[in-house]
Amino acid sequence: MSRLKTLRVRFALWTAGLLLAALLLFSLFVYAGMSRALLGPVDATLELAATHVLTEIKTDSGAPVMVENPLTDEEYALLRDQGVSMRVLDGGGAEVMQYGPYTRLPLPQSAFPLPREGGDFVTVGDDASGDTLRLYTLPIGDGQVVGTLQIAQNLTVTQRTLRSLTFTLLVGVPLIVVLAGVGGYFLAARALAPIDSIVRTARALSANDLSTRLNLPAAEDEVGRLAATFDSMLGRLEAAFRRERQFTADASHELRTPLAAMQTIIDGTLARPRTPEEYEQALADLGREAAQMRVLTDGLLELARSQSAGQQTRAESVDLSLLLNDVADSLRPLAEAKGLRLIESVPPSGLVIQGDSDALIRLFANLIGNSIKYTDRGSVIVMAAPNGRAAEVTISDTGVGIAPEHLPHIFERFYRVDESRSTQGIGLGLAIAREIAAAHGGSVDVTSELGKGTTFTVHLANE
Ligand code: ADP
Repeated sequence: MSRLKTLRVRFALWTAGLLLAALLLFSLFVYAGMSRALLGPVDATLELAATHVLTEIKTDSGAPVMVENPLTDEEYALLRDQGVSMRVLDGGGAEVMQYGPYTRLPLPQSAFPLPREGGDFVTVGDDASGDTLRLYTLPIGDGQVVGTLQIAQNLTVTQRTLRSLTFTLLVGVPLIVVLAGVGGYFLAARALAPIDSIVRTARALSANDLSTRLNLPAAEDEVGRLAATFDSMLGRLEAAFRRERQFTADASHELRTPLAAMQTIIDGTLARPRTPEEYEQALADLGREAAQMRVLTDGLLELARSQSAGQQTRAESVDLSLLLNDVADSLRPLAEAKGLRLIESVPPSGLVIQGDSDALIRLFANLIGNSIKYTDRGSVIVMAAPNGRAAEVTISDTGVGIAPEHLPHIFERFYRVDESRSTQGIGLGLAIAREIAAAHGGSVDVTSELGKGTTFTVHLANE
């Protein structure tokens, strides 16, 4: 939970941090652009006014002399309104002419020893008024510098605009950053809410109750897919656990039957003194039940082995032609004892697959054994052929067949079509066969017609 919270906070902090950096950069650009845009016209005005005043200054005598009043009264009034001051200094720094509210303009940093184009712009503070001024200083004289012209304009309007921009940025930027951080926090919290549910559900889960589901509204995003995957994983786990529990229950049930029979035989025999023949008979009965139990435990062991076969690496090359020949040869006496023909139609070579030969022997022995077991007349035919990159083996018989209602169940563990008839079987053979085929990346399918016969088809991947 605390880690989740950290994730939200981290997301919010990142959002706010990145936005802050972007906004600071943006503010700098805006401020620089704005002050340039505001100072540009001021400088242009000062330059224009200076050029105008210069035409009214004579320098013949080696010192600046005002020809006449350079500006009309209206122009002076306009300049005053705009906060403009000017003065003309001679080469020694003495004032020749001064006009405007700012009387103590700072002297130029450097007197202009040589005539040069243009003047200097500086922004200075006026100590007397506390105003900020834009000051333009220009040398006077054609071949030789004989004096200095200074024009200054009050920057109050510009400063006020820049101050208000600064204020807006100083208030606006932190506000936007805080809002983005809070918004980011809530957005992250919203996006991560399903993960909270997953954590709670996962905590509440136990092997005894896997029925809980998140059931979150379907969302196509990553978290939605995670929630859906979690639910489907729970579904698979629940089904697997249920199958395991059912299997344990079925196995115990199957083991109880012969055990109960043995108990009855023992109790009945011990109830009174018996003749040696009776004891012999009881032992024979016990032996039969023990054999039944043995078949059952062997089947369970085989099933466990075939299930774990899927986890083993199968690096062994198996020649299916040889393997099928061997299995058929070992079962042929059984078929012949029932008067059946066991026919093989297997190519002599070209059927090599990667697999576990012991498991494959169990698979085909089960299927061919079943066909012999459930066929009273006719034949059992084993065919094999390559099928693209895979191999396909079919085992057909002319036996009793399986009714359509049983077909979907015959691969289930302990499923027997006819309980009474199947005392010979325990209902694990086909389950084992299917597990082995699946472990080899393959499958087992069945088609059957009641009274006519059954065909099992095994597909095995060829790599
Ligand atoms: P069992 O040990 O009883 O043979 P299996 O899992 O091998 O168990 O088979 C399950 C059931 O499928 C059997 O009880 C049988 O009724 C039916 N079955 C399997 N193979 C055949 C077949 N070749 N012909 C007819 N029925 C079959």
